[in-house]
Amino acid sequence: MADAPRVPFFCPAGAAFGVDLGACLQRVVDSGWYVLGPQVRDFEAAFARHVGVRHALGVANGTDALTLALRALGVQPGQPVVTVANAGCYASTALAQLGAQPLYVDVEPARLTMAPPALAAALAAHPVAAVIVTHLYGQMADMPRLAALCHAAKVPLIEDCAQAHGATLNGRQAGAWGALACFSFYPTKNLGALGDGGAVLTDDQALAERLRALRQYGWTRKYEVTVAGGANSRLDELQAAVLLAKLPHLDAANAARRAIAARYSAAFADLPLTCPPPPGPDHVMHLYVVRTPRRAALQAHLAAHGVASDIHYPLADHRQPVRAAPPPPLPVTDQACAEVLSLPCYPGLTQAQAARVIEAVRGFFAGA
Ligand SMILES: *Cc1c(COP(=O)(O)O)cnc(C)c1O
Repeated sequence: MADAPRVPFFCPAGAAFGVDLGACLQRVVDSGWYVLGPQVRDFEAAFARHVGVRHALGVANGTDALTLALRALGVQPGQPVVTVANAGCYASTALAQLGAQPLYVDVEPARLTMAPPALAAALAAHPVAAVIVTHLYGQMADMPRLAALCHAAKVPLIEDCAQAHGATLNGRQAGAWGALACFSFYPTKNLGALGDGGAVLTDDQALAERLRALRQYGWTRKYEVTVAGGANSRLDELQAAVLLAKLPHLDAANAARRAIAARYSAAFADLPLTCPPPPGPDHVMHLYVVRTPRRAALQAHLAAHGVASDIHYPLADHRQPVRAAPPPPLPVTDQACAEVLSLPCYPGLTQAQAARVIEAVRGFFAGA
């Protein structure tokens, strides 16, 4: 297999979805308008329509989207906000910006997204200011149950959709379930820019107006600061033009991810390896994540056979060195953290590369 194709973890060319990005950028350069202009406005309208909500506000990145969403809700320092600890620390970073208190709850063993009974217990025990649900790896969380719990407790729900662009559950898009939805357009995301970008979506006119002010210094008019906690967090025209051109290809790109995932799962069916749930419309396979207690050995074997892999995420939020508080008990989160391994799965991965991934994984278990 010496001449077999090496398999990187991400493919920038595949992420372009065949769009002429150079032409997109040139049009913006020639327009002379570079921040919060017509490209941003058109992308916001198109993306809001795609998700099925009224308002989308472009911001600088996905973490800012979470921070500004919390600010728009009026979350105060010290207030508890429920979230999970296995989703890359982004929500925790946003909460730290506000001085709000993360209240970590455990995840479901199959989907690895927030467990409804754990949310119910947290809502019963604490005066919670908000709940942040992450659709992890492209898999939507159990939104019918989680949203119903938030609704009953009158606690606003924020969806973190940074890994779930285009996923739907019961015909409803990721981002159309909560009071607010946050997206990242980091280059590796299912809808990715050529740099940083993000958006907050909402159906609520008042929240949208607050977000519009918060992303630009707290202005409601130029140089008039009306809303406290404002930031400079704008989406620029170059990124918006790229996103606008790529958006029509998102569903096809997600289908390509699902096809690779289905091929992997079929090929691994007889192995002592936990594969992701079957890829239906509620899973856009941002990451194809397997689980094994022999992760380190598998990862080393893959690397030796030219197959890149990664771990999402090796250190859970409640165990980060920066935290002073003792870690709460989150047994499902902890076990998943020790076992998850992400295999290459993205538009642009060739059939030959997928075959190499399969052969390398099967080879590991054959040799065991
Ligand atoms: C990438 C990501 C973010 C943050 O996005 P940035 O644009 O990198 O700030 C937030 N949440 C999740 C789940 C992510 O994967």
